Amino acid sequence: MSELRLLALYPEQMNIYADRGNVLFLQHRCEWRGIGFAYSAAGMGEGFDPAEHDLVYIGGGQDRDQRMVAADLIATKRDALEAAVAGGVPGLAVCGGYQLLGTSYELGEERIEGLGIAPLHTVREPGPRLIGNVSIEVDLGSGRRVLAGFENHGGRTYIDAGGQPLGRVIHGFGNNGGDGLEGIVRENLIGTYLHGPLLPKNAWLADELIARAIERREGERPALEPLDDELEDAAHADAERAAERG
Ligand code: GLN
Repeated sequence: MSELRLLALYPEQMNIYADRGNVLFLQHRCEWRGIGFAYSAAGMGEGFDPAEHDLVYIGGGQDRDQRMVAADLIATKRDALEAAVAGGVPGLAVCGGYQLLGTSYELGEERIEGLGIAPLHTVREPGPRLIGNVSIEVDLGSGRRVLAGFENHGGRTYIDAGGQPLGRVIHGFGNNGGDGLEGIVRENLIGTYLHGPLLPKNAWLADELIARAIERREGERPALEPLDDELEDAAHADAERAAERG
């Protein structure tokens, strides 16, 4: 039987809008299919072995939370994370966690150093927070799909040379409200501003992460058993409509 070993980074600090719900959703979709699910967490001061995890998750956080974890993230987890990403381990980083993948997050005079494992940087520019419902179109290799969700960030993120965005904004702000891009992709690592119940609203992305995680571990992409997604499909349609309304 397949098994998915998920590692959550700083689940205590990086969990704004209950981003942790994404982990529960992954767990349920595995268990409903008879796929084993093992959860572990790495918090302050804790390192991890990249060979022991199939999927890495980090949620969002306020500036205060990000300040608290940023230096620890670099000191205790950067090398393992880089090795995991370079080795094709799938990852999902949301909002504040997404920003920390980049080189830096600048807030006026202050500069929070990031991991530098994805080519992007974030700045606080004058202007309002970018808040609202958002939909983006993405192509992760199996054709055009839509991700719909909610964003709330003060930071504006810019993709640096060689970086590949996750998608293009249909409705909403995305990375910075200006260039029409949203998120980042490096290998199987995905960073995005889409918050909260991102995966429950976009069940296809949860399954894509599960399939990639199992494929990397077992060498073959699994044919995931279809599930009854009536509620998930309704949640997705609702989130897309909300984004259209703006
Ligand atoms: N603190 C970051 C910002 O405001 C990220 C916010 C978040 O994770 N919602 O840009």
